[in-house]
Amino acid sequence: MSKQELKDLIDSLRSKGITDENVLKAMLNVSRHLFVPEVVRHLAYKDSALPIGYGQTISQPYTVAFMTQAAKLDSNSKVLEIGTGSGYQAAILVQMGVKVFTIERNQNIYKITRKLFDDMGIRVAAKYGDGTIGWEEFAPYDAILVTAGGPTIPENLKKQLKIGGRLVIPVGDRTTQAMKIIRKTTDEKYEVESIPNFAFVPLIGREGWKDE
Ligand code: SAM
Repeated sequence: MSKQELKDLIDSLRSKGITDENVLKAMLNVSRHLFVPEVVRHLAYKDSALPIGYGQTISQPYTVAFMTQAAKLDSNSKVLEIGTGSGYQAAILVQMGVKVFTIERNQNIYKITRKLFDDMGIRVAAKYGDGTIGWEEFAPYDAILVTAGGPTIPENLKKQLKIGGRLVIPVGDRTTQAMKIIRKTTDEKYEVESIPNFAFVPLIGREGWKDE
Protein backbone atom coordinates (compact mmCIF):
# COMPACT_ATOMS: atom_id res chain seq x y z
CA MET A 1 0.00 0.00 0.00
CA SER A 2 1.10 3.58 -0.51
CA LYS A 3 0.76 6.27 2.12
CA GLN A 4 -1.06 8.30 -0.57
CA GLU A 5 -3.91 5.73 -0.74
CA LEU A 6 -4.42 6.10 3.01
CA LYS A 7 -4.31 9.91 2.79
CA ASP A 8 -6.90 9.81 -0.02
CA LEU A 9 -9.14 7.60 2.12
CA ILE A 10 -8.91 10.06 5.04
CA ASP A 11 -9.73 12.96 2.68
CA SER A 12 -12.79 11.05 1.44
CA LEU A 13 -13.95 10.51 5.06
CA ARG A 14 -13.60 14.25 5.64
CA SER A 15 -15.67 14.99 2.52
CA LYS A 16 -18.36 12.57 3.80
CA GLY A 17 -18.75 14.57 7.02
CA ILE A 18 -16.22 13.16 9.49
CA THR A 19 -14.88 16.17 11.41
CA ASP A 20 -13.33 14.76 14.61
CA GLU A 21 -9.62 15.34 14.03
CA ASN A 22 -8.65 12.78 16.70
CA VAL A 23 -10.58 10.09 14.80
CA LEU A 24 -9.09 11.11 11.43
CA LYS A 25 -5.58 11.24 12.90
CA ALA A 26 -5.93 7.79 14.45
CA MET A 27 -7.17 6.37 11.15
CA LEU A 28 -4.21 7.94 9.36
CA ASN A 29 -1.90 6.16 11.78
CA VAL A 30 -3.36 2.65 11.59
CA SER A 31 -2.55 0.51 8.53
CA ARG A 32 -5.86 -1.13 7.59
CA HIS A 33 -4.18 -3.61 5.22
CA LEU A 34 -2.65 -5.37 8.24
CA PHE A 35 -6.17 -6.32 9.46
CA VAL A 36 -7.50 -7.99 6.30
CA PRO A 37 -6.74 -11.32 4.62
CA GLU A 38 -4.07 -11.28 1.90
CA VAL A 39 -6.57 -11.87 -0.94
CA VAL A 40 -8.33 -8.55 -0.29
CA ARG A 41 -5.29 -6.57 0.83
CA HIS A 42 -5.18 -4.55 -2.41
CA LEU A 43 -8.67 -3.20 -1.51
CA ALA A 44 -7.79 -2.18 2.04
CA TYR A 45 -7.82 1.57 1.34
CA LYS A 46 -11.12 1.62 -0.53
CA ASP A 47 -14.03 2.91 1.56
CA SER A 48 -15.77 -0.45 1.69
CA ALA A 49 -16.38 -3.39 4.02
CA LEU A 50 -14.29 -6.47 3.17
CA PRO A 51 -14.62 -10.18 3.98
CA ILE A 52 -12.41 -11.47 6.82
CA GLY A 53 -13.53 -15.13 6.69
CA TYR A 54 -16.14 -17.14 8.61
CA GLY A 55 -18.89 -15.10 6.90
CA GLN A 56 -17.81 -11.93 8.72
CA THR A 57 -16.48 -8.54 7.60
CA ILE A 58 -14.22 -5.67 8.53
CA SER A 59 -16.52 -2.62 8.60
CA GLN A 60 -16.35 0.14 5.99
CA PRO A 61 -13.86 2.86 7.10
CA TYR A 62 -16.63 5.49 6.94
CA THR A 63 -18.71 3.42 9.37
CA VAL A 64 -15.76 2.97 11.75
CA ALA A 65 -15.13 6.73 11.63
CA PHE A 66 -18.82 7.55 12.07
CA MET A 67 -19.26 5.28 15.10
CA THR A 68 -16.02 6.44 16.73
CA GLN A 69 -16.96 10.09 16.21
CA ALA A 70 -20.48 9.46 17.55
CA ALA A 71 -19.03 8.04 20.78
CA LYS A 72 -17.39 11.43 21.58
CA LEU A 73 -14.25 9.99 23.16
CA ASP A 74 -11.16 11.46 24.74
CA SER A 75 -7.92 9.85 25.80
CA ASN A 76 -9.32 9.05 29.27
CA SER A 77 -12.30 7.13 27.92
CA LYS A 78 -13.00 3.48 28.66
CA VAL A 79 -14.76 1.72 25.79
CA LEU A 80 -16.40 -1.66 25.32
CA GLU A 81 -16.54 -2.95 21.73
CA ILE A 82 -18.89 -5.78 20.80
CA GLY A 83 -17.70 -7.70 17.74
CA THR A 84 -13.88 -7.66 17.69
CA GLY A 85 -13.79 -9.01 14.12
CA SER A 86 -10.54 -8.07 12.39
CA GLY A 87 -9.38 -5.90 15.33
CA TYR A 88 -9.29 -2.72 13.20
CA GLN A 89 -11.90 -0.74 15.19
CA ALA A 90 -10.17 -1.69 18.45
CA ALA A 91 -6.80 -0.61 16.99
CA ILE A 92 -8.24 2.81 16.08
CA LEU A 93 -9.53 3.24 19.63
CA VAL A 94 -6.17 2.24 21.12
CA GLN A 95 -4.45 4.69 18.77
CA MET A 96 -6.70 7.42 20.26
CA GLY A 97 -5.38 6.54 23.72
CA VAL A 98 -8.65 4.93 24.79
CA LYS A 99 -8.77 1.95 27.18
CA VAL A 100 -10.38 -0.85 25.16
CA PHE A 101 -12.35 -3.95 26.12
CA THR A 102 -13.58 -6.08 23.21
CA ILE A 103 -15.72 -9.23 22.89
CA GLU A 104 -16.03 -11.64 19.94
CA ARG A 105 -18.47 -14.58 19.74
CA ASN A 106 -16.77 -16.45 16.86
CA GLN A 107 -14.01 -18.51 18.45
CA ASN A 108 -11.89 -18.78 15.28
CA ILE A 109 -11.96 -15.04 14.71
CA TYR A 110 -11.29 -14.42 18.40
CA LYS A 111 -8.14 -16.59 18.33
CA ILE A 112 -6.78 -15.10 15.08
CA THR A 113 -7.36 -11.50 16.17
CA ARG A 114 -6.08 -12.00 19.66
CA LYS A 115 -2.80 -13.28 18.18
CA LEU A 116 -2.71 -10.27 15.84
CA PHE A 117 -3.12 -7.91 18.83
CA ASP A 118 -0.22 -9.70 20.58
CA ASP A 119 1.99 -9.72 17.47
CA MET A 120 1.35 -6.02 16.80
CA GLY A 121 1.68 -5.00 20.45
CA ILE A 122 -1.88 -3.61 20.55
CA ARG A 123 -2.92 -3.45 24.20
CA VAL A 124 -6.60 -4.38 24.58
CA ALA A 125 -8.54 -6.65 26.91
CA ALA A 126 -10.15 -9.21 24.57
CA LYS A 127 -12.51 -12.03 25.40
CA TYR A 128 -14.47 -14.73 23.65
CA GLY A 129 -18.22 -14.74 24.37
CA ASP A 130 -21.62 -13.19 23.81
CA GLY A 131 -21.18 -9.42 23.85
CA THR A 132 -24.92 -8.71 24.10
CA ILE A 133 -24.61 -9.32 27.84
CA GLY A 134 -21.71 -6.89 28.06
CA TRP A 135 -18.63 -7.20 30.30
CA GLU A 136 -19.94 -6.43 33.77
CA GLU A 137 -16.60 -6.81 35.53
CA PHE A 138 -15.16 -3.62 34.00
CA ALA A 139 -18.39 -1.59 33.73
CA PRO A 140 -19.38 1.23 33.65
CA TYR A 141 -18.05 2.39 30.27
CA ASP A 142 -17.85 5.86 28.71
CA ALA A 143 -18.95 4.30 25.45
CA ILE A 144 -20.06 0.95 24.04
CA LEU A 145 -19.69 0.36 20.29
CA VAL A 146 -21.62 -2.57 18.84
CA THR A 147 -20.24 -3.49 15.42
CA ALA A 148 -22.94 -5.99 14.41
CA GLY A 149 -26.63 -5.29 13.76
CA GLY A 150 -29.21 -6.32 16.36
CA PRO A 151 -33.03 -6.46 16.50
CA THR A 152 -33.26 -4.29 19.65
CA ILE A 153 -31.11 -2.24 22.03
CA PRO A 154 -29.68 -4.69 24.62
CA GLU A 155 -30.75 -3.72 28.16
CA ASN A 156 -27.51 -5.09 29.63
CA LEU A 157 -25.45 -2.72 27.53
CA LYS A 158 -27.55 0.29 28.56
CA LYS A 159 -27.00 -0.64 32.21
CA GLN A 160 -23.23 -0.86 31.73
CA LEU A 161 -22.93 2.75 30.52
CA LYS A 162 -21.74 5.61 32.73
CA ILE A 163 -24.13 8.52 33.19
CA GLY A 164 -23.32 10.73 30.19
CA GLY A 165 -21.94 7.71 28.31
CA ARG A 166 -22.99 6.66 24.80
CA LEU A 167 -24.04 3.36 23.29
CA VAL A 168 -23.66 3.25 19.50
CA ILE A 169 -25.46 0.31 17.91
CA PRO A 170 -27.02 -0.55 14.54
CA VAL A 171 -30.61 -1.75 15.06
CA GLY A 172 -32.99 -3.06 12.41
CA ASP A 173 -33.49 -6.25 10.43
CA ARG A 174 -30.81 -8.69 9.34
CA THR A 175 -29.70 -6.68 6.31
CA THR A 176 -30.28 -2.97 7.01
CA GLN A 177 -30.21 -1.01 10.21
CA ALA A 178 -30.39 2.51 11.63
CA MET A 179 -27.48 3.60 13.78
CA LYS A 180 -28.81 4.36 17.25
CA ILE A 181 -26.78 6.74 19.40
CA ILE A 182 -28.08 6.35 22.94
CA ARG A 183 -26.93 8.79 25.59
CA LYS A 184 -27.53 7.87 29.22
CA THR A 185 -28.70 11.04 30.98
CA THR A 186 -29.65 9.56 34.39
CA ASP A 187 -29.79 6.01 35.80
CA GLU A 188 -33.19 5.60 34.18
CA LYS A 189 -33.22 8.04 31.26
CA TYR A 190 -31.75 7.86 27.79
CA GLU A 191 -31.78 10.16 24.74
CA VAL A 192 -31.81 8.34 21.41
CA GLU A 193 -30.74 9.63 18.01
CA SER A 194 -31.27 7.47 14.92
CA ILE A 195 -29.42 7.67 11.60
CA PRO A 196 -30.69 5.38 8.80
CA ASN A 197 -28.99 3.29 6.11
CA PHE A 198 -26.30 1.11 7.64
CA ALA A 199 -25.66 -2.55 6.80
CA PHE A 200 -23.98 -4.88 9.28
CA VAL A 201 -23.65 -8.63 9.78
CA PRO A 202 -26.09 -9.89 12.45
CA LEU A 203 -25.51 -9.55 16.18
CA ILE A 204 -26.10 -13.09 17.46
CA GLY A 205 -26.73 -13.69 21.14
CA ARG A 206 -28.99 -13.54 24.15
CA GLU A 207 -30.07 -9.96 23.39
CA GLY A 208 -29.45 -10.27 19.65
CA TRP A 209 -30.68 -12.54 16.86
CA LYS A 210 -31.24 -16.09 18.01
CA ASP A 211 -29.52 -18.06 15.27
CA GLU A 212 -27.39 -17.68 12.12
N1 SAM B 1 -15.28 -4.28 14.70
C1 SAM B 1 -14.92 -5.21 13.66
C2 SAM B 1 -13.69 -4.81 12.93
O1 SAM B 1 -13.11 -3.76 13.23
O2 SAM B 1 -13.29 -5.58 12.05
C3 SAM B 1 -16.05 -5.49 12.71
C4 SAM B 1 -16.73 -6.68 13.09
S1 SAM B 1 -17.84 -7.55 12.07
C5 SAM B 1 -18.72 -6.33 11.16
C6 SAM B 1 -18.96 -8.07 13.37
C7 SAM B 1 -18.39 -9.07 14.32
O3 SAM B 1 -19.33 -9.22 15.39
C8 SAM B 1 -18.17 -10.45 13.74
O4 SAM B 1 -16.84 -10.85 13.91
C9 SAM B 1 -19.15 -11.35 14.54
O5 SAM B 1 -18.67 -12.64 14.77
C10 SAM B 1 -19.26 -10.55 15.82
N2 SAM B 1 -20.45 -10.81 16.64
C11 SAM B 1 -21.74 -11.06 16.25
N3 SAM B 1 -22.54 -11.23 17.34
C12 SAM B 1 -21.74 -11.07 18.43
C13 SAM B 1 -21.96 -11.11 19.84
N4 SAM B 1 -23.17 -11.36 20.38
N5 SAM B 1 -20.91 -10.89 20.67
C14 SAM B 1 -19.68 -10.63 20.18
N6 SAM B 1 -19.39 -10.61 18.86
C15 SAM B 1 -20.43 -10.80 17.99
